[in-house]
Amino acid sequence: MNVQKDDERAATVHEGGCACGAFRFRAAGGPKRVGMCHCMTCRQVHGSAFGAYAIYARGDVMMSGSLSTWRSSEDGRRHFCPVCGSVAYMEYTTRDEVDLPLGAFDETGLFEPDYELWCKHREPWLPQGVRPEYDEERAH
Ligand SMILES: [Zn+2]
Ligand SMILES: [Zn+2]
Repeated sequence: MNVQKDDERAATVHEGGCACGAFRFRAAGGPKRVGMCHCMTCRQVHGSAFGAYAIYARGDVMMSGSLSTWRSSEDGRRHFCPVCGSVAYMEYTTRDEVDLPLGAFDETGLFEPDYELWCKHREPWLPQGVRPEYDEERAH
């Protein structure tokens, strides 16, 4: 029975993309983890109070469309649609993963974050104590 469930999970594909539709992605299976980030860079690039990402193994995500890239730190790369400005995904060159923004998925209610990063920059009106919290980055 468990094997069957794993097969179903592996066959699941979630799609998403940018606001104008020029960039699209297909993510197979489930994310490795789901996180919220309150760091100043995530706040700014999203223009929102925080960033939230489903983090997938790179090999599980197919993408189409042309993106622009900003080098946000030595290892960090932030990719965005040059047409509509949407955050497309972020990645670290040192990790075999892609971070897909929760808001870029076509469906709502897919994933709930497992943890929160950079809570020292969290807006005080956001709920606290809901999930593991880290003042800054967490070890991977
Ligand atoms: Zn776009
Ligand atoms: Zn961040």
